[in-house]
Amino acid sequence: MSNQPSFPSLRGLPRPTRVLPCAQCGSPQVTNYPHCAGCAQALEQYWRADWQALLEREQIPSEAADEVLLAQIVLDEVERHPWSCVDWAMTLTQCNVCGQELGGGPTECTECAAAFGNALWSEMVAGRRGEVTGNEHALHVGRFVLRHPHRYPENSVTGWRLSMPGLLTGWLPSREDAQQSMALIKAGRLSEVEARLLLFYQTLR
Ligand SMILES: [Zn+2]
Ligand SMILES: [Zn+2]
Repeated sequence: MSNQPSFPSLRGLPRPTRVLPCAQCGSPQVTNYPHCAGCAQALEQYWRADWQALLEREQIPSEAADEVLLAQIVLDEVERHPWSCVDWAMTLTQCNVCGQELGGGPTECTECAAAFGNALWSEMVAGRRGEVTGNEHALHVGRFVLRHPHRYPENSVTGWRLSMPGLLTGWLPSREDAQQSMALIKAGRLSEVEARLLLFYQTLR
């Protein structure tokens, strides 16, 4: 690996300035990540851009075998790499304990739990360099929650699913807003939260 410094995550491409409908499913972009290809592309493009930049920096051709090798190296030294690349390396790697995508196995898989911890550790190291905003942290966690929803409480997954389209534009709810939404979701008043957020998203521009 070269000794060039790491770079901040998720800043390789401009973000949308407002919440857009997904061209494939019609919901606000990212809502149906990762199952809808349009929603997946809307979110993953930022991770892919960082991974591509890392491949270029390391002069590694983007062929499957080479990428898996780079993924292993990144996972062995997560504090030295952009956390988005750690996330992407996990996506390219199979857990050697449970056989699922690394970080996405059953909740009992300690290897997957450790990998998720490492991804957060990588972000924390970048945070110490002043390279992580609250919004970027939220996107980091939200991607894991939506990608591996069986690892999280259902209400939490619902909350993230509704807020990710807004987060993609750089928005970050206040603590009070987030708590209020979660209380309504827990009370089964999901449609109220959804309606309120959709209305709010129309004002983001
Ligand atoms: Zn979609
Ligand atoms: Zn596992």
